[in-house]
Amino acid sequence: MRHCNSVFCAEDIWFLIDTQTATKRKLYLASCPICAKEMALYSEQNPETLETYEKYYYSGGARKIKEKFKKEISSTLQGFKTKYRAPYGFKYGKNIEIKKEGKCIGIKQYACDFWGNKVLVKTIYE
Ligand SMILES: [Zn+2]
Repeated sequence: MRHCNSVFCAEDIWFLIDTQTATKRKLYLASCPICAKEMALYSEQNPETLETYEKYYYSGGARKIKEKFKKEISSTLQGFKTKYRAPYGFKYGKNIEIKKEGKCIGIKQYACDFWGNKVLVKTIYE
């Protein structure tokens, strides 16, 4: 993320659920280390054209967009940091239902990254 002629890392990243017209939706959150302005960077990809759209929001606008996207979070980077204590590599979680004779008998939880790697974290049987 960038502001005040400096480039810095997001403090948290919210991974948002896909919509029909947008995938890989992410909201990067940070405060500028120079001027302390609250910032949010929204990014999404059009699944048809594969074009990436990005937009910065500041202060009140950043708070408003956080409020709006709160309901659409599928996972967050901070959530993964606390959970697995290995933030590098893993980017988002994925739950896959285990089915037997048409009934869901459990859930396999995977940690995935954007290179398509998948690691089984936990298997839960109901
Ligand atoms: Zn700044």
